[in-house]
Amino acid sequence: MNPVFLPNSASRKLTCVISPIGHFNDDLLQHISRHITETYAHCVSIESIVNRIDFAYDQNRNQYHSTPILDKLTKVLKPDISKVIALTSMDLFIPILTHVYGEAQLGGKSCIVSVARLKEGLENGNSQEAFHDRIIKEVLHELGHTFNLLHCKDKSCVMHYCRCIRDVDQKSNCLCRYCKVLLNDQLKLSQELNQNL
Ligand SMILES: [Zn+2]
Ligand SMILES: [Zn+2]
Repeated sequence: MNPVFLPNSASRKLTCVISPIGHFNDDLLQHISRHITETYAHCVSIESIVNRIDFAYDQNRNQYHSTPILDKLTKVLKPDISKVIALTSMDLFIPILTHVYGEAQLGGKSCIVSVARLKEGLENGNSQEAFHDRIIKEVLHELGHTFNLLHCKDKSCVMHYCRCIRDVDQKSNCLCRYCKVLLNDQLKLSQELNQNL
């Protein structure tokens, strides 16, 4: 029997970078890493590839425009890295909306999540866990878009579109069965592209 020959590139793992803008709790970052690996089968490295986002600041709105930040992330990302998720505590917007929890390049490499509004209603007592749960859901949601996943009608699916914080709390941190199937197709494509780099 012939041994199966696997060229080096066949074992190359897909990698996602978590790029914190400013300081984020280490436990939170580790927790996010685990969820990204479980959901999207990527290795995760934590590395600030964009430290300042002043260029995206809008004085009139006192918020940051997320789209140019995504462009910048894509520009500075090393070509062998598959995805990047940036985290910021600054409030984000896109021109047609008052604010966004995050934004992603559909089928692209970059996405960002703002935690600025994810503390809503959590001021009392033991709220850290609930705050972190919300962040994880939004991270998995925005990353899902980079895998071409669209908004899902299933209210418990992490790809469900959230208009308010109650919607975030109501959904789970998992993809529904339907979204999982779509993701698997995308992961196969990503793997193939990765091998051909
Ligand atoms: Zn979305
Ligand atoms: Zn779904």
